[in-house]
Amino acid sequence: MTVSGFLIDLDGVVYINGEPIPGAVSALRELQKRGIPFRFVSNNTHRSRETIRERLARFGVDVPAAWIFTPLTAAIAYLRDAGAGSCWLLGSPDAAAELRSAGINPSDPNASHVLVGDVSDVLEYDMFVTGFRILMRNRAELLALEHDRYFKGNDGLLLSAGAFVAALEFAADVSATLLGKPSAKFFQAALTSLGLPAGEVVMVGDDPRSDIGGAASVSVRGVLVLTGKFDGVLPADAPAPWKILPGLSDILSLTQ
Ligand SMILES: [Mg+2]
Repeated sequence: MTVSGFLIDLDGVVYINGEPIPGAVSALRELQKRGIPFRFVSNNTHRSRETIRERLARFGVDVPAAWIFTPLTAAIAYLRDAGAGSCWLLGSPDAAAELRSAGINPSDPNASHVLVGDVSDVLEYDMFVTGFRILMRNRAELLALEHDRYFKGNDGLLLSAGAFVAALEFAADVSATLLGKPSAKFFQAALTSLGLPAGEVVMVGDDPRSDIGGAASVSVRGVLVLTGKFDGVLPADAPAPWKILPGLSDILSLTQ
């Protein structure tokens, strides 16, 4: 089967805890050298697209910011489509800055949308109370930037936004709309940017549900790598990956 391009996850595939994974940077540079197109699809809601671009550049991978797809880029498009100029964000200062730079006020207590992302460094009870009251009072829409259960940190597994989305869903008796992986719309945006038929594209990730499951929803084959949180046990509710490979550098052989 022809492989002409890649969608590539970042955390657990290209870097982990801010450090590049051995072999990943050289693999990306080799893809660029061979002219094989790729886009990054990350569920990171902590950093803006520009911050991620700068980090990759520091590692020696120069890509345009437009090649990086995150739930925040999806949220900005979603809020614009809804005609919303504000929201209530439960998320990082960098996420708030990205929304502000797109002309969206991230801290409007009368907002029509409540956004939940990575709250690891801003977690406060009061911000949840405000978000909860907006949902109850305004019948606002709850948007999950991502819905992952957990991710791998440097001292073990850490809670992802999905756990905090579930708290608000439970309290306000609402269902969140998912913007990041494994949303088909999110993958389709990256696939459209790549400009290749889905059958010639491979998604490389470390999450069977978000990466492999999401890619399958737009008919893209998935490769699971072992450099991140995947522990070798496939969940029953996720589609089987096309291949399981040790790491990102092993995808180069797929294009030959
Ligand atoms: Mg990952």
